[in-house]
Amino acid sequence: MKTRKSVFLLIIYFFTFFVCRIAYSEDSDWKAIQGRYFTVLLAPGVDAKYIYRNIRASSYEGFIFGGLFSGSSEYSDEALAAEFDKMFVKVEKVLDMYPQEVNINIKIYKTHAQLSENLKNIGGRKNHDGRLLSYYIDIYKTIYTSKENISRKVIAHEIGHVISERYFYAKVPNQIQELLAQYAEIHIDD
Ligand SMILES: [Zn+2]
Repeated sequence: MKTRKSVFLLIIYFFTFFVCRIAYSEDSDWKAIQGRYFTVLLAPGVDAKYIYRNIRASSYEGFIFGGLFSGSSEYSDEALAAEFDKMFVKVEKVLDMYPQEVNINIKIYKTHAQLSENLKNIGGRKNHDGRLLSYYIDIYKTIYTSKENISRKVIAHEIGHVISERYFYAKVPNQIQELLAQYAEIHIDD
């Protein structure tokens, strides 16, 4: 009886150890940047400055003064998080929908191939499409994209999905969600 118990404990120990190791290995090398609405997760090899440049609003003022006063567009982790947060607030306004308690991950892979591979692994999604530039999966509260795919419009689109998923109590048909996401994408810089 005693032996059986210790064998059982041993199994539990190894199982826990093994599971923890697996869970840990995926995200351990990722860089996390915390904002108000998002935790931005950058895969190893993803340059945060590059992401910042690609999602920033390109305003006329920025164009004129950006060169003269480069300090205004200097990179910091806080500036990157703030840029995602500003986009969220703007999409809320565009859609006139204000969901409560939004805390979403944005996982940014290095390549499009890795992004597609992840979708295959996690979703087993019936409509898996290797061409997707990004996707939002509500049960994981995560937007997925890659360095090769990211842009301001891509993120605005996915924030549109986040908001339409989180705002309604009842599940909204996919076509309606898609329309809202496209609307957000088109009007992000109005
Ligand atoms: Zn969409």
